[in-house]
Amino acid sequence: MNEFDTIKNFFSWSETGTGLEKSVGDDCAILNVNNDASVVTSMDTLVEGIHFTKDTKPEDIAYKALAVNLSDIAAMGANPRFFTLSLTIPEINPSWLQKFSESLKALSNSFNVRLIGGDTTKGPLNVSISIFGEVKKGLALQRSGAMAGDLIFISGELGDAAMAYKGLKINDSTLLRLNRPSPRIELGQRLTPVATSCIDISDGLYQDLGHILSMSRVGCKIDLEKLPMSDDVKDYVDSSSNWCVPFAGGDDYELCFTAPKSMRNKVEDISSELNLPLTCIGEITKDIKFTVKGGSVEECYSYQHF
Ligand SMILES: [Mg+2]
Repeated sequence: MNEFDTIKNFFSWSETGTGLEKSVGDDCAILNVNNDASVVTSMDTLVEGIHFTKDTKPEDIAYKALAVNLSDIAAMGANPRFFTLSLTIPEINPSWLQKFSESLKALSNSFNVRLIGGDTTKGPLNVSISIFGEVKKGLALQRSGAMAGDLIFISGELGDAAMAYKGLKINDSTLLRLNRPSPRIELGQRLTPVATSCIDISDGLYQDLGHILSMSRVGCKIDLEKLPMSDDVKDYVDSSSNWCVPFAGGDDYELCFTAPKSMRNKVEDISSELNLPLTCIGEITKDIKFTVKGGSVEECYSYQHF
């Protein structure tokens, strides 16, 4: 099987239709976008030995490669439309490719995002995806809009993926959170009229909330006791008094966003409608400082995910 057969057999499932004039199979795909929409785009690469191990299943690699890109689209409040895939593989292994392709296709179908092109090359395993989404002009959520007095919210729970990644607790639920993060697409879209800033947590709350603070030129006060955690993470924090896993561990792919106090009820409504916890962990301050109460996080400031 050569490169073209690989593409034809495993990656040529997208049909043309709404917004997609030409898909896989030409020099470029042809996209038609709405006049009143902005296109948002992002790219993420997963590398064997860094983002996943040699034992990671092809279906998990495919899932995560697309999910982390969808998460960036979620953080903008946008609707995912198309993606391209650059796949570097050491050899053409049809059963590996079959599993990889099925998983990628299933996730892309569930978010209605279509594969429109890419590249395959020989080399150490490396999966790179570029994603394109659209959002009504002027409505994209950004990191720069947080205002003093805004509340800070987190979706879902923090720390499980880091527990699995660091080998602190490996069970079905922590592994699922590491290998199969849930892109919060619907939440992002619901937040466009509500949130003043938003980011997805890929490098840990400390670092990613830090991006909101620096882009918005504000500070924050957060309470560690309020961090949303699973029982696994809570038990770990209780027994070790180490907050770094939920505070600075990575790979959560939850959304961290800010909203004015007047929007608190609206945020609660969205939470119950989506059946997704949205937890207020603190407040944005005028004073440009990252203030943490409820425990010590000093050792987390140099906490490296990798
Ligand atoms: Mg991101």
